[in-house]
Amino acid sequence: MKLSDDITYLKGVGAKRAQMLSKLNIRTVGDLLYFFPRKYEDRRKVSYIIEAPFDEDVLLEVNVVSIHTQSPSFMKKVPLKVLCEDDTGRLELVFFNAKYLRSFFKSGQKLTLFGKISFNSGRRQMIHPEFHITGEKDDIRGILPVYPLTEGVSQLQLRNLMIQARTCVNQIVEWIPDWIVDENNLCPPSYAVDNLHFASEERKILEGRYRLIFEELLVLQTGLFYIRHGKKNDKHGVKLNSEISADSFISSIPFELTEGQKKAYMEIEKDLEADIPMNRLLQGDVGSGKTIVAETAMYKTVKSGYQACMMAPTELLAKQHFENIKRDFEPFRITCAHLTGNMKTTEREILKKALKEGKIDILVGTHAIIQPDIEFKELGLVITDEQHRFGVNQRNLLESKGKAPNVLVMTATPIPRTLSVIMFGDLDSSVIDTLPEGRLPVRTFLRYGESREKIYDFVETKVKEGRQAYVVAPLIEESESLDLKSATEIYEELKAKYRNINFGLLHGGMKQAEKDETMTNFKDNKIDVLVSTVVIEVGIDVPNASVMVIENSERFGLAQLHQLRGRVGRGDAQSYCILISGSKSEIAEKRNRILVSTADGFEIAEEDLKLRGPGEIFGTRQHGLPELNVADLLKNTEVLKTVSKTAEKLISEDPALKSIENIELKERVKRMFGDSISLKL
Ligand code: ADP
Ligand code: MG
Repeated sequence: MKLSDDITYLKGVGAKRAQMLSKLNIRTVGDLLYFFPRKYEDRRKVSYIIEAPFDEDVLLEVNVVSIHTQSPSFMKKVPLKVLCEDDTGRLELVFFNAKYLRSFFKSGQKLTLFGKISFNSGRRQMIHPEFHITGEKDDIRGILPVYPLTEGVSQLQLRNLMIQARTCVNQIVEWIPDWIVDENNLCPPSYAVDNLHFASEERKILEGRYRLIFEELLVLQTGLFYIRHGKKNDKHGVKLNSEISADSFISSIPFELTEGQKKAYMEIEKDLEADIPMNRLLQGDVGSGKTIVAETAMYKTVKSGYQACMMAPTELLAKQHFENIKRDFEPFRITCAHLTGNMKTTEREILKKALKEGKIDILVGTHAIIQPDIEFKELGLVITDEQHRFGVNQRNLLESKGKAPNVLVMTATPIPRTLSVIMFGDLDSSVIDTLPEGRLPVRTFLRYGESREKIYDFVETKVKEGRQAYVVAPLIEESESLDLKSATEIYEELKAKYRNINFGLLHGGMKQAEKDETMTNFKDNKIDVLVSTVVIEVGIDVPNASVMVIENSERFGLAQLHQLRGRVGRGDAQSYCILISGSKSEIAEKRNRILVSTADGFEIAEEDLKLRGPGEIFGTRQHGLPELNVADLLKNTEVLKTVSKTAEKLISEDPALKSIENIELKERVKRMFGDSISLKL
């Protein structure tokens, strides 16, 4: 048997089971061996009933004392109870709906149990424990792997398949270059794989796991450094003339740029004028004014004879950018176009033609821009706003529309510093660390349902003063299962109560045209209070809005709340953010408090991470990196640091991964990054 053999080679795997295994991405014997346990059960030590801790998995060896199956006839569903004992005490096993088990248990039987002990009406109990006749074949001892499962594949089946596949473990050969293996004391991959499935000691599991995490991160980092290095060495980038200055555009802006903005633009300008294409990350907290910096870069690009494009994560934000860009560039005879997802075919064809002929200078849109039929005449600058929402993949596709165009990616940094190296490892970075002058910090309050009336009265006062407000709710429709106020419900309620206020409703389920109309009306101050779902989360800029009310704030992530709060405080008026929490639980309270106590986006992101754990924030959907199997970018930060250094050295010595010892690594990089890495290898 070989690693590359189809999984159906194994006994007990027919077409049907193979189909089910493929849901776990297991297709070959090799895939199976790289399918790792989620956790382990320690069945090495037998515990005594009296000494065993509650609510933790324990292994017991007991004798059956008696079985209680008798049930009064009027009670249909009486659980089966089995009384057991060991030398130290007694314990009751409880099985619900388990008629079939009645004939299994006999008094005097010796049983091995595995499960959690709980304490119930003065008695120790195990509810639905795993049980075996002591000493029989299925009474397995040792460290038992527990695999993630899918329908139709059981723990036992997986373990049995692993036993069969084990004969191939030795075919897994070392592929990491010797110097890296030596420097990091890595165990061989065959040893690692074997010990993860057939563990005898904790130490060996850890050793093996370290190796596998290391190798996965090595592939990731090498890929990222490869991309970065490749771009740096691409001398044929778009190079702009240093004589063309953006001064006349900058002086047309109705405000003075902040120091942070000036500094960021200077860095960008330097890149634009260099041979090497720009690859820069522009970071800045919500409201720091990234857009105008981006516009300045676009101005210089267009005046140098190239086209520019800007990609935003939502239609709403793309439209806003388009309108601003169009307005700001009107005096300079720069032609802007907006590519939307719902354009008519003829409209789209006209736009495409003009774009290809170079009659459009700036194109704004969502990821609709990266469709293959959208072609530019001479694309010189690619900008992505709120980059954390796009993948490396999408960014690269956009870049491929020009011949090594300059690239600027913008983000409000909901990413902790420890991670930004990874996520943006292929980029240089600029930070806008100042907010525009005259901005008053948003005053944030935490309130509960009882205060709702007062809060909306406050909103009314602000509206009377000429201000506008947002009300954000977590759901669109009324939900019966959860006690949440939906956006629609709140909208109806408020509209009925405050008759002098113009309310608008905005949610993801609305047609694009309706959304556009509502947003335009809000911008034009024809709507006083906009009730919406999180569709307004990123980027939306209406400086006259000064109140943000967030209903059921416990339902949102901290970083998300920070983004939402960033919708206000954009003008010179004092702004307010009021969190109406629907929960008084400790965790909800803690999260809300963090928001009340700080306005620093970095700090909030770090806290968010601690409280929610990585999964929710760094699902692949958000970070845009390839999916990882063993490693965890947040937990394995130490390994990550080591790997980063190694990968950097590796790429600087062999930038194209051409040497024989790096061949397998190159293959793995290709596999991990898929189409998003155009390895000119
Ligand atoms: P973000 O960095 O969150 O994308 P925006 O670019 O949307 O921020 O800018 C937020 C608001 O601040 C906008 O209304 C913009 O016009 C305004 N703004 C940007 N720079 C300045 C400045 N230097 N002085 C005053 N207002 C500014
Ligand atoms: Mg923005």
